[in-house]
Amino acid sequence: MRQLVVVGNGMAGMACIEHILKHQHDFQITVFGDETQVNYNRILLSSVLAGEKTADDIVLNDIDWYRANDIRLKLGARIEDVDSRERAVIDEQGGRTPFDKLVIATGSSAFVPPIPGVDKKNVFVFRTLDDTRALLERSRQGLKAVVIGGGLLGLEAARGLQVQGCDVTVVHLMDTLMERQLDSTGGDYLRRKIETLGVRVLLGKQTQALLGNGRVEGLRFACGEELDAELVVIAAGIRPNAELGKRAGLAVGRGIVVNDFMETSHPDIYAVGECTEHRGQTFGLVAPLFEQSKVLAATLTGNRGPTFNGSAPAAKLKIMGVDVFSAGSIDDTEAGVETVYYEDRSLGIYKKLLVKENRLHGVILVGDASDDHRYMEWLRARTDLSSQRRHLLFPPPAADKGLDIAKMPDSETVCGCMGVSKGEIVTAIHLRGIVTLAQLKDATRASTGCGSCGNLCSQLLRAVAPDFEEEKQKVLCACLPFSQEKLREIVRSQELKSVQDVLDIYGNGRGCEICKPALSYMVDVAACGDHKEDRSARFINDRVHANIQRDGTFSVVPRMRGGVTTPAELRKIADVAEKYKVPLVKVTGSQRLDLLGVKKADLPKIWDDLGMPSGQAYSKGVRMVKTCVGTQFCRFGVQDSMAAGIELEKRLENLYTPHKVKMGAVGCPRNCAEATVKDIGMVGQEGSWQVVVGGAAGKGVRKADLLVTVETTDQALEACELFFQYYRENANYLERTYDFVERLGIEKVRKETVYAAAEVRHGLIERLKKSKDKSYDAWLERHRPRPTQFVEIRPLGAHEMEAPYALDSSYRG
Ligand SMILES: Cc1cc2nc3c(=O)[nH]c(=O)nc-3n(C[C@H](O)[C@H](O)[C@H](O)COP(=O)(O)OP(=O)(O)OC[C@H]3O[C@@H](n4cnc5c(N)ncnc54)[C@H](O)[C@@H]3O)c2cc1C
Ligand code: SF4
Repeated sequence: MRQLVVVGNGMAGMACIEHILKHQHDFQITVFGDETQVNYNRILLSSVLAGEKTADDIVLNDIDWYRANDIRLKLGARIEDVDSRERAVIDEQGGRTPFDKLVIATGSSAFVPPIPGVDKKNVFVFRTLDDTRALLERSRQGLKAVVIGGGLLGLEAARGLQVQGCDVTVVHLMDTLMERQLDSTGGDYLRRKIETLGVRVLLGKQTQALLGNGRVEGLRFACGEELDAELVVIAAGIRPNAELGKRAGLAVGRGIVVNDFMETSHPDIYAVGECTEHRGQTFGLVAPLFEQSKVLAATLTGNRGPTFNGSAPAAKLKIMGVDVFSAGSIDDTEAGVETVYYEDRSLGIYKKLLVKENRLHGVILVGDASDDHRYMEWLRARTDLSSQRRHLLFPPPAADKGLDIAKMPDSETVCGCMGVSKGEIVTAIHLRGIVTLAQLKDATRASTGCGSCGNLCSQLLRAVAPDFEEEKQKVLCACLPFSQEKLREIVRSQELKSVQDVLDIYGNGRGCEICKPALSYMVDVAACGDHKEDRSARFINDRVHANIQRDGTFSVVPRMRGGVTTPAELRKIADVAEKYKVPLVKVTGSQRLDLLGVKKADLPKIWDDLGMPSGQAYSKGVRMVKTCVGTQFCRFGVQDSMAAGIELEKRLENLYTPHKVKMGAVGCPRNCAEATVKDIGMVGQEGSWQVVVGGAAGKGVRKADLLVTVETTDQALEACELFFQYYRENANYLERTYDFVERLGIEKVRKETVYAAAEVRHGLIERLKKSKDKSYDAWLERHRPRPTQFVEIRPLGAHEMEAPYALDSSYRG
């Protein structure tokens, strides 16, 4: 077998091996990586810093993948030299590993300008998982953090640190943020957006020195001004790691020079990734590197033919709620370039297209990047736009409804990061019988880069995979030949208000224990509680308002909002327990008291004696909001989690949901009430709240996804309400939030809730309010006319509705 040695266990090197494995080859592969981690998605380090993903979430190839493919992996092993005459690489200990073919895939390093003081403690770069971990370890509430560099990486680092509670300033040498991707107007839109998130931006500032005695304490600028800093991140650009190329005697410019086949000046040495220089160009984004990887795999495996021809530069900022996309050339002074642009200052939207000879030459989108895919395709395919000139910025009405997936040509790229086309996806679905997004990711690597094509991939699956799992799950039972989605639509559009009506008109007239509770739920939600309630159609526990236990007795859990109670309530519970000889009183994991072993006949009397509302512990409905003591008692607390949790519970209690909904509110990221494994969680931060959704701590454990970060408690509560109502209206019956969020993808959920148009959000809140008005407490119902438990839901103020509720000014993305 021939020895293939790859130096660099990063994104491009491993993508190349993945392609080699698809070809016939006779290599024994050895990989050296100087990081200690297996191959991970470096792009998503920003998401790890922002707390949206964990280190485990971003692994691309785990250790089993190397084993299964018989790849020798040496981690924490740095190659120091290449003996190109004798064909061997030499590690730090002087160990030699011979090769027949060598691939240098050493990537780039963060560029650290020679500023006096950069070697002080607490000065970092942002390139690796270790850098990210170090930043996470140091960041804390109120820590003064300064990011030097207002490019893509600097801004993502700044946002991540700010989400971690730091007080962040971005210092940029130029007068425009991301000046390589944006013009000055676009940069100005971006600056204002970043500032609304609470990150300070200083432009035109040249850092002259980092101050402090051993540990960084501040910065001095060329203008003489100084700025306090306890932590500094330098994000001033990257430099290709080309030293090994030099040592091997290869042609090296800014990077290791490669030709269109990824060959260097030595016949058995190749290079791929950010360490390369191709036709005078170096690289900083993955899409072209994955193209390089494919080409190199063909060259190495005896299929030399495909060539790398460079690609249009494209960049997308991955800060939630800050849409920025730029591709192609942004130089509008170039001869023959026309500009077409649109600006709306109050919405914070700026779009600019550069057109040359009726073809797209470059694009800048700030505030709304939803059309990035279309523009990227125009750039890639060099589409003649003569017939589309009227619709360059806004698609014609028909196309406006969304990309018509069927009309998309097979050659069109769906996943820009991994370079996967529609044709490849469709073929993989057909050939491998793919029915889930996870399988599709595994098979094609589509949607495993920055993840922004996830929706498009799902649309393709839906259109092409006959057994797409989403469809399978939705079919209810034999009584009605419809999917849940279709049934919801029928109930809504036909304004059906009773289970029997649905069964009579669309089903077998009888129903069963599977479809009746689901229909019962659907008519309730569609009519906002103004339906004909058929108690017998409800789920058994909802019929008796109690949880039936294994011995046939029942349990009684009174509501204690936010887990807070009073001596009087405790006395009542104790009296009831004694009077009815309740065999067991147990504190639940949900911060409530459970009276277990109650006889069915005693239930109504116990409810009467308690005089407390039902905790709905039996229901497919709102359970509780678990809280920590927060600012009221805890010395670490930065938000009043008890008050917020109690208010949240009041706003949502007594409502039915597709499955049980458990919630949590905590006063700081220490997360004592485990809000991040709840269906809905509010996590207090210094000066803000994170609202997280889709968490679970049951049979499976799932960390909730970040829905949005907002400044005020009111905004956080409203974000919870938006998600709650959206889940009520769109989930399948018996689908927990964690399955729901995974099925739809958090991006879609965000777009259709907190970042939806004002009227959509208003509609969700209004329907929730209507349902709430009609709701009532199950135990107290017999004594009070409906509605018994009216809790005022604050309608959105006019000013909030007018604001671009993609939360430009009010919400932090
Ligand atoms: C925070 C962050 C966010 C990003 N966001 C985006 C984005 O949104 N979109 C996008 O397209 N790109 C993004 N990028 C860039 C993208 O991650 C890179 O383009 C890509 O990782 C480059 O792949 P590579 O294999 O060339 O280099 P790398 O992934 O850096 O891999 C090179 C590996 O080689 C190792 N190595 C170097 N020298 C040696 C040696 N002598 N011996 C052994 N091992 C060695 C390095 O430690 C590293 O592990 C981002 C990068 C960062 C840091
Ligand atoms: S989560 Fe924070 S505020 Fe709440 S109790 Fe724990 S440490 Fe205190």
